[in-house]
Amino acid sequence: MFDFLYKAFYRLNVKILVLVCLSAIIPIIILSVIVDIAYANRSIESECKNLYAKSEVLAKQIVTSGYFEDQSDITMDTRLDEMSQLIDGRVILTNSSLRIVYDSYSRDNDKIFLWENVTKSAYGEELSYYDKDTGILTTTIPVTFINDEGDIEVAGVLLASGEFKFIDDNLRHIIALEAIIVFMVTVLSIVVGMILGGSFSSPINEASKQFDKGVKGGEIGEINVTGYTEIEDLSLRFNSYVSRMETIDKSRQEFVSNVSHELKTPLTSMKVLADSLVAMGDAPVELYQEFMNDIADEIDRETGIIEDLLAMVRMDKSNASLNIENVNINELTEQILKRLRPIAEKQEVELVLESFRPINAEVDKVKLSLAISNLIENGIKYNNPGGFVHISLNSDHQYFYIKVEDSGMGIPKESLDMIFERFYRVDKSHSREIGGTGLGLAITHMAILMHSGEIKVDSVVGEGTTFDVRIPLVHIEGESS
Ligand code: ADP
Repeated sequence: MFDFLYKAFYRLNVKILVLVCLSAIIPIIILSVIVDIAYANRSIESECKNLYAKSEVLAKQIVTSGYFEDQSDITMDTRLDEMSQLIDGRVILTNSSLRIVYDSYSRDNDKIFLWENVTKSAYGEELSYYDKDTGILTTTIPVTFINDEGDIEVAGVLLASGEFKFIDDNLRHIIALEAIIVFMVTVLSIVVGMILGGSFSSPINEASKQFDKGVKGGEIGEINVTGYTEIEDLSLRFNSYVSRMETIDKSRQEFVSNVSHELKTPLTSMKVLADSLVAMGDAPVELYQEFMNDIADEIDRETGIIEDLLAMVRMDKSNASLNIENVNINELTEQILKRLRPIAEKQEVELVLESFRPINAEVDKVKLSLAISNLIENGIKYNNPGGFVHISLNSDHQYFYIKVEDSGMGIPKESLDMIFERFYRVDKSHSREIGGTGLGLAITHMAILMHSGEIKVDSVVGEGTTFDVRIPLVHIEGESS
């Protein structure tokens, strides 16, 4: 249950719904509370002012009438009564000793009135007190006169208190209205939130649906979702990923059939050669020698293919370790060229090495020579008779650089990104003819990455290809696997 709620809350549409509701309801509630408080304060303040004004008029009349000295004149009593009726409450007048000289309720006459606000008003303060529970507002003001010395003197305190229930009633009414508004806004925001949530999450749901459909069909197909830019970007990226996967998958399938074919071809030739020798029975020794040489060539071819596969598998092991030693790169390259020169001559391709300075670097000799020979071999293989492969070696204080430039057939732009993928070959039929398996550059790439190096390719179809390799002179520990 908890898990269900947790998952539900993390759904995009639910989040949007909650967000819309909160952003609509919270401001309204805050606004309502502010309005309520402001209304209550403002109402009490204005009633207070009213009471003060009335009390002050009455206080002046009390002083001028000499009420404190002689209370037999009922005019002042009448005025005080009128005031209590007017405010629908109680009016009390004390003398300066806080003894009550008039009480509109006639309850506490002659008693000493000891209430904090009255005491303070006897010292000249005007005070008010609002009791929230009863809704009664009470003001106390000093009744003052100017004595013979010209000083203001307090003759008594006038208290007026009335019930202002209407403030609370109005407030309750306002709160009820506000509750209705909050309820309506809540309902409205739920509706809007659901519509918005639905429309926001629908492209994502659509993408999931299309994805599910594709997967159920056995193959991951492309998806086509519109809605907003992010989801469109995502579907574009997904589609490019899918097409990349498809290409790799296709190459993989082709590779399996190619490898089988490549492995089978030398075996078939050997079988034919051996069978014909057996069938001849008394074949001359020269023929035996010739056939045996052909069989040896086929064995070499078979061994080459198997070596390529093994090299790739070895390189592919994630924990493959490097056997780092200090190697003279110039000598290593010369050895490679010595081995490849006969092949180049056969293809009528000129091999030129240009060494700008002696280079010693910390590398794995076997893996690096595999990487370099693959590049040079490709330069020869994908070349034309009369062409060239230029190899140049250079270094600075941090890296050494190997450049392999050929005058061969070149690689189309759209294939440049793919050539380092395993099993990828630009021209399948041609490559088969040439004898490629699509593993060479993948092996080279892996070997260079294991040395924390970089490889870049630049090519123009019909003009040639240049591979630029950059490898640190000092091996960087920990980045080799
Ligand atoms: P392969 O065994 O087929 O040569 P690679 O991984 O060495 O495999 O190369 C991948 C593909 O890249 C090749 O099939 C070829 O089409 C292309 N390629 C590699 N190097 C060159 C080059 N120097 N010139 C033209 N095409 C090349």
